[in-house]
Amino acid sequence: MRYQDYEVPQDLQFKTADIIRLNGLDCSAKLSPKYFEDIFAKPNKITRVGITLSFSVASKEILVRGSIEGEREVQCARCLSMSKQSFCEEFLETYSHKLEIIDIMYLVRQTLALTEDIRFLCKPECKGLCPMCGQNLNEAACGCKPENLSPFAVLKGKFK
Ligand SMILES: [Zn+2]
Ligand SMILES: [Zn+2]
Repeated sequence: MRYQDYEVPQDLQFKTADIIRLNGLDCSAKLSPKYFEDIFAKPNKITRVGITLSFSVASKEILVRGSIEGEREVQCARCLSMSKQSFCEEFLETYSHKLEIIDIMYLVRQTLALTEDIRFLCKPECKGLCPMCGQNLNEAACGCKPENLSPFAVLKGKFK
């Protein structure tokens, strides 16, 4: 059965009996980002999610192949600026025929949670913020002297 004929539930709870009756299902859907807004630590957030699913029915199990693609906004760990990134993740899972509901939402949330990069950098050479005045050093230099910022410089001063 093709997706045009099947309305994908927004909460991704599929009835196992439906999938077996249809002898498998291929479907895709755009999902509301509200289902995913609590996955990343703020201010990082997922802003767009689309999924494609393919259910195959075997004798005792249902095999689900899926891909998730979308967009997220993530903060640079050094300069705190926000960047948009697109992402694409794939998953593969099997479910017993005995289950009443195939909970794809749980799988999608888990897959997305693993993609959070808390050490994300807007660019590898990001200069970060000046720890003294807060200036974004990618945009402009400030007058602060970098030698005063090193923790070793502070120690040197203490033990003179
Ligand atoms: Zn940065
Ligand atoms: Zn500064």
